[in-house]
Amino acid sequence: MKRKTGFTTSILHADRESVIEHGSLHKPLHLSVAYGYRDARELANVFQGKAQGYAYGRQGNPTAAALEEKVNRMEDGIGTVCFGTGMAAIGAIMLALLRDGDHIVASSFLFGNTNSLFNTLAAHGNEVTFVDATDVALVEAGIRSETRLIFVETIANPRTQIADLSHIGELCARRGLLYVVDNTMTSPYLFRPNAVKASLVVNALTKYIGGHGNALGGSVTDTGIFDWTRFANIQDTYKGPKTALWGLTQIRKKGLRDWGGTLAAEQAHHLAVGAETLSLRMDRACANAMSLAQFLAARPEVRAVYYPGLDSHPQHALAGELFAAYGALLSFELDPKLDCFDFLNRLQHVVLSSNLGDNRTLAIPVAHTIYHEMGAVRRASMGIADSLIRVSVGIEDREDLLADFAQAMTG
Ligand SMILES: *Cc1c(COP(=O)(O)O)cnc(C)c1O
Repeated sequence: MKRKTGFTTSILHADRESVIEHGSLHKPLHLSVAYGYRDARELANVFQGKAQGYAYGRQGNPTAAALEEKVNRMEDGIGTVCFGTGMAAIGAIMLALLRDGDHIVASSFLFGNTNSLFNTLAAHGNEVTFVDATDVALVEAGIRSETRLIFVETIANPRTQIADLSHIGELCARRGLLYVVDNTMTSPYLFRPNAVKASLVVNALTKYIGGHGNALGGSVTDTGIFDWTRFANIQDTYKGPKTALWGLTQIRKKGLRDWGGTLAAEQAHHLAVGAETLSLRMDRACANAMSLAQFLAARPEVRAVYYPGLDSHPQHALAGELFAAYGALLSFELDPKLDCFDFLNRLQHVVLSSNLGDNRTLAIPVAHTIYHEMGAVRRASMGIADSLIRVSVGIEDREDLLADFAQAMTG
């Protein structure tokens, strides 16, 4: 039997396992919008899915397909579809799989734009019940007869709550519900949601997998665990002989061909190059985050630190069981005597920016920016104080990072 290669080796050598032009070390950029055929029958077969091939760029391109293969290996899935952004990936799942009247149970601690998307869905006839997903009993209480799927994130941003991932997986298996896990904050290097029986895994490739803040992208991976024959909303045309592929086929057709959430070849290339060093960057960023969290927790100017790696974190033990490390995102509340804007303005290496998962350390005052639109009431219910600062920790030299925070505290 062929020896199974490790995480990073497998990504590095994925492209060259199939025929690649001129022995190129990277999958080339295929920028063509359309693909020409000499044989009309072959063209017809490609359209009907009977032959491998490409028809029109909106439905995918070979460069994006090479990235799909890499993400699929990382997540150990049975298939992966890539999209132009993480939000396009989440939107495609909802567009492809929900019908009028279907209900969603979602974690109330969600990426802000996902929260906003779910409110949009509510206006289109798909009600969403938001629950505290750190407690499986509350998730179960949210289920109705119309519930179609459960949606959670691994580590929530900005307060770093960790969903009760294994128990929710067992609940979904027992009730026959689709279990969608957004793995962006952990990345497949720290955690594979198939370990907790997730049906579909979302990654915003924009964040840790790309890692350099130079390309947007998203993905949906089918873990092969969900039984699609039990899912009411698959169209007859997508019910091929392999039942395991029904869901992803419908997501690909609706999300790319019909909705146009396509990942361009150039972006796919950038993301694939980033993916090669995911493990190295993640090790360094997680170690930096742990050091920074410990440093902040010891400072008198800091009222609270939220980081799963600290003993004080309510799901510290759970994070240790599930994840290979505690992630690279933390948040903290300054003592109200310090103005959080003045503090942020004194930072010299840290960039004031809304992204996360960049190589550079980024910080943002949450209530005044990404959670502003949500309003004070919802913010309070999510535990977001006015002085909360989110830090996406990068790969800088540790001493420089700690020194920057130290000088910004003392002014
Ligand atoms: C950023 C992010 C997304 C959306 O990804 P984009 O590529 O920015 O659209 C979705 N989920 C989580 C958890 C994220 O952090």
